[in-house]
Amino acid sequence: MQDDIEFCPYCGNKLSLKSNEGRNRLYCEKEKRFVYQNPIPAATGLIFDKEGEILLVLRGKDPSKNQWCLPGGFVETDETPIQAAKRELLEETGIYVSSPTLIDINFQRSIFYKTSILIIGYHFAEYSGTLAAGDDAEDARFFALDKLPTLAFTSHMELIEKFIHKKIPAS
Ligand SMILES: [Zn+2]
Repeated sequence: MQDDIEFCPYCGNKLSLKSNEGRNRLYCEKEKRFVYQNPIPAATGLIFDKEGEILLVLRGKDPSKNQWCLPGGFVETDETPIQAAKRELLEETGIYVSSPTLIDINFQRSIFYKTSILIIGYHFAEYSGTLAAGDDAEDARFFALDKLPTLAFTSHMELIEKFIHKKIPAS
């Protein structure tokens, strides 16, 4: 998954670079196959309270420790992006969310993970539960849109702006 892997994830053989369709791709000589490198999908959720304030979490670990961002995390291999967003929101904020609508899918390079990430952004129109920061989140709080802190990731701010300006969905 990372940019600089040395060994084949399938057989452990040392990888080489081979030109293919105009790109240099990692190649396993032993198995005669390319090892493709793809972005990692992450799912995130926009949740607004009755006052129109948006839920953010304070990151408890790197990358971007001690900065605010939308709650969310990586999609695991056995779950859909919506399931991943719901799971991460519950873990990080104690909130159970429902009624999702896709806002957009953003692309961002990550120096920390040495790869690129696809950020799948949902708006969840309904939620229940009691707000309580957990897992990787040090704090979880609703913020007025005109008083947002600087977010850890530009992709998250882009999702918020896209949602506000295109009003997806009407809710
Ligand atoms: Zn191999």
